[in-house]
Amino acid sequence: MHEGSITTQIVESVLGEAKERKGKKVVQVDLVIGSLTFLNPDQVRFWYKMLVKDTIMEGSKLVIKKQDGTVHCDKCGYNGGFQCLNDSAFHIPIPTLECPRCNGTVRIVNGKECIIKSLKLLV
Ligand SMILES: [Zn+2]
Repeated sequence: MHEGSITTQIVESVLGEAKERKGKKVVQVDLVIGSLTFLNPDQVRFWYKMLVKDTIMEGSKLVIKKQDGTVHCDKCGYNGGFQCLNDSAFHIPIPTLECPRCNGTVRIVNGKECIIKSLKLLV
């Protein structure tokens, strides 16, 4: 249900933005999803299709771009991708907050965002 509530928020803000710009129809929505949101693009599309029914967004194209997560280590200055644990219990790589270079703790720079990058409207 994670995707359902996020997609609801997305659709609501697109509709709000379209209204503000006096748009008659939304043609395209460009979305950026960080890999750390763990949102499934297929699920987002599924919800999107249902939620835009009978709105000015119906029939619009949804473009989803994935943004890789990056981290920074204050201790050694490492900047880059996550170190992942391959835990067989989960069958997917689990990102950890451990620095691959010095084993310190890194902080997340990118990858937690889910943003509407742009809208195409007919006015
Ligand atoms: Zn480090």
